[in-house]
Order: sequence, then structure tokens, then C-alpha cells
Amino acid sequence: MSNPSLLILAGDGIGPEVMTEVRKVIDWYGANRDLAFDVSEDLVGGAAYDAHGVPLTDATMAKAQEVDAVLLGAVGGPKYDDLDFSVKPERGLLRLRKEMDLFANLRPAQCFDALADFSSLKADIVGGLDIMIVRELTSGVYFGEPRGIHKEGNERVGINTQRYTESEIARVARSAFELARKRDNKVCSMEKANVMESGVLWRDVVNEIHQAEYSDVELSHMYADNGAMQLVRAPKQFDVIVTDNLFGDILSDCAAMLTGSLGMLPSASLGLPMSNGRPKAMYEPVHGSAPDITGQGKANPIACILSFAMALRYSFDQGDEATRLEDAIEGVLADGLRTPDLMGPEDGSPISTVEMGDAIVAKLTASL
Ligand code: NAD
Repeated sequence: MSNPSLLILAGDGIGPEVMTEVRKVIDWYGANRDLAFDVSEDLVGGAAYDAHGVPLTDATMAKAQEVDAVLLGAVGGPKYDDLDFSVKPERGLLRLRKEMDLFANLRPAQCFDALADFSSLKADIVGGLDIMIVRELTSGVYFGEPRGIHKEGNERVGINTQRYTESEIARVARSAFELARKRDNKVCSMEKANVMESGVLWRDVVNEIHQAEYSDVELSHMYADNGAMQLVRAPKQFDVIVTDNLFGDILSDCAAMLTGSLGMLPSASLGLPMSNGRPKAMYEPVHGSAPDITGQGKANPIACILSFAMALRYSFDQGDEATRLEDAIEGVLADGLRTPDLMGPEDGSPISTVEMGDAIVAKLTASL
């Protein structure tokens, strides 16, 4: 059996800095856990534009389609702000998501105990929080037709269409149920079936898939507005939340902020299973290229390292090793080590990006 393959696209700004620390973690698994990966690296975003005049070459796109998982850093920066829309760094990212058909966007909201005081909510409400929002990413009101702004009589009308087919709902529901089986086995589906027909269909299809294929998973339904309230009132009641593109956009940002810092938030985007059974997959931190701190050793690499932990769990069925990595991060934070974004006024002096990566690798070694 050959090693599983990873394509690293570090991108721009702090992307390469945080990815260097992920690379240390990947190498640690190869050296210590009999879990070696075939790693290749390539350019995306502004870096690809500088080298090739496009934010993603066809050759890189083809590589992304072949590997078991893509790890992406971040793209963009002020240098590229005036480029034509068609070659902006973000277009590279959108092309990857579109051509790999990554329809399920996974955004965990996980609050490490050591950072509970950092949340805008009370520590006892968020301490130990671990929920997963699965957002449908390739359909719904952001894509539905008809759309546009036109004239009716003497005023303008803006139109967008919320449209979901049964198969689009079914495939993202399956992703959510599969994830739940690897976690606490609970799914809460959110829509607005009280006022939207697309929500009625969403609820029906989720129920049908549940009954036919996943009756072992506990399923509940909630209107998305109530879901927003419950997320800030008692977030620990949830395990996996599945919802559409629009509600998912809002609810996942809301849930993310429960955990404090942008430097802590990983994500995964998954598509259909490939011939080897693994899903098409891209893992990336939620944050951008952070031009304000690039090159200063201030970037927190944890979001990107947690994205690799997601790859271990969701692409490579290495849930125990993913937990080992998350525990190592928890341990480093519990020791009081912090990059500047995680510091309060009383928290002593920060450590650098490289020191944070080294501390996590040292904790991994200590776990053996
Ligand atoms: P950003 O996420 O890059 O930064 C927002 C703030 O959070 C900044 O103050 C930054 O220093 C801080 N921050 C972000 N990540 C951090 C980390 N790992 N450690 C410590 N601090 C961190 O968002 P922005 O400033 O709005 O955008 C900057 C550039 O990134 C833009 O070109 C934008 O288009 C691009 N962007 C890319 C992605 C992506 O690649 N997925 C996502 C968002 C923004």
C-alpha cells in the first residue's frame, strides 16, 4: 500500500508561516506513528499569480483532483487588491472548491478549557464545547436562479432564489450523519420550514435519509432563528448541526466566535467519495493571510494544525491520532503558552509561531 497523499498549498501572507509548523507535525507522524504521507507542495493565490499570471494553474488543479487531501494556508493581500476579478487570489480558492465539488463545509467550534475566559460568553457555557456545523456550500440562495436587480414599474426589485434539489439535500445530510457517527452520534438539522417551502423539502429529505440509512443516529430539527438563539444560550446541547448555505454562513460564524480567536479555527470542505472511498477534501484555517502580522512570527499556527487534525479524522480515519494532536494543543495552552492573539493583558509574554509549533510537537512526543 502506498502512503496517503497530501498537496500543500501554503498561499500568501502568513499561509507559508503557519504551514511550516503543520509540516513539522506531518513529519512527526511519519517518524513516530508509522503514518507517513506523500507530501507535494504547490502555489495558489497571489503566489501563483506572481509565478504564472493566474491564481491556480491547470496543472495544480489536476494535482488537487488526484491527491487524498489538499491542505491550504491562506490567499490574498493588499498587493493583489487592484488585480482584475478574474485573476484575484481568491479565485484560486473558489476554483478548487468548485471543480472538486466540495459541497459540505465543516466548521467545528471547539473551545479549549484553557481559553474559555477568552470567549465573549461565560466560561462555564463554552468550556469544553465541541460542536460541528455542516454547511451546504454549493447551492441554495447564493446560486439559485432567477437572480438580479430589475425594474418593476418605477422602482427597482432585487431577487435571489432559494433552490434545493432532493439530491443536494440528501448528500449533505449523509455527510452530517457520517460525521455524527464519528462523534457523539447526534444531528440537529436547521431550516425555516415554518415559512419556506425549500425548508419543508429540506426537513422531509433529511428525515427520509435518516430513516432509510442512519436510524442509529439521533436526529432533531430546529428552526434556524431558534438555532441562533440556542447557540449563544446553551451551545453544548449540540453535536453536529446541518444546514443550508445561507443559514450555515451565519450560524457557523456565530458559533466560531464562541471560541475566541480567529487563529484557532479550522475548517474542512468535503465532496463525494473517490474510488478509494476517501472523500474529495480540502482542509484550511478559517482565517485569511493576515498581512498586518506577516513575517513577524506572530501568526498562531493552531488553526492550520487543527485543520490537519481534521484531515487525520475525516480523510484518513485516524480519529485517535487526531485526538492525540488536539490533546497536545490543549496541553500547550494549559501550560500557558500563547501566541499574541491569545493574550490578555495579564498573560505574560507571547511565544512565536515557530515556538508554538515546536511546543506542540514536543507535547506529541511526550504523549508516546
Ligand atoms: P484575516 O483573517 O487575514 O485577518 C483578520 C485579523 O485577524 C487580522 O488582524 C489578523 O492579524 C488576525 N489573524 C488572522 N489569522 C491569524 C492567526 N493565525 N494568528 C494571529 N492573528 C490572526 O482577514 P482580513 O484581514 O480581512 O483579510 C486579509 C487578506 O486575507 C485579504 O486579502 C482577504 O481577502 C484574505 N482572506 C483570505 C481567506 C482565505 O484564504 N480563506 C479568508 C479570509 C480573508
